[in-house]
Amino acid sequence: GVERVLVSACLLGQRVRYDGEGFEPGDLLLRWQGEGRTLALCPEQAGGLAVPRPPAEIEGGQGGSVLAGDTRVITRSGADLSDAFIRGAEAALALCRREGVRMAVLKARSPSCGNRESYDGSFTGVRVSGQGVTAALLMREGVRVFNEQELEDAERYLQGLESLSG
Ligand code: SF4
Repeated sequence: GVERVLVSACLLGQRVRYDGEGFEPGDLLLRWQGEGRTLALCPEQAGGLAVPRPPAEIEGGQGGSVLAGDTRVITRSGADLSDAFIRGAEAALALCRREGVRMAVLKARSPSCGNRESYDGSFTGVRVSGQGVTAALLMREGVRVFNEQELEDAERYLQGLESLSG
């Protein structure tokens, strides 16, 4: 079968973002969708959060610390959404395991999906180096995570996986 790729649902145009919007997918994601490769998931929705919902940030910006119980995901008014974010990450991992997914394209800088950078929990636009909660869990479990600005690398990686599996 074709190599499957987990993709943030909002990057495939699903209107699941906190503000009720999605993003128009570009050519590569549309092609992958047409090839039946993409598995769309919004971890925050899978974790039980509504659309729309208040924006959230990780205190300190490290999704791995949320998984370890050392820090929290909060809204601007201080509501603790950590449990929903962890549930969403676990749902994403379960989907990857069930479908044999080895790579993902996830939305940059999201407190769930960000693979390199995250906001620091101050709601002032300050970015730190760190992963969202779902990206942190998937990376820890061996799924290679790209963001939507790294699609050329993602395509090369996909080709490598497919040539290895023959
Ligand atoms: Fe998109 Fe991920 Fe945010 Fe869901 S949690 S809206 S998939 S960035």
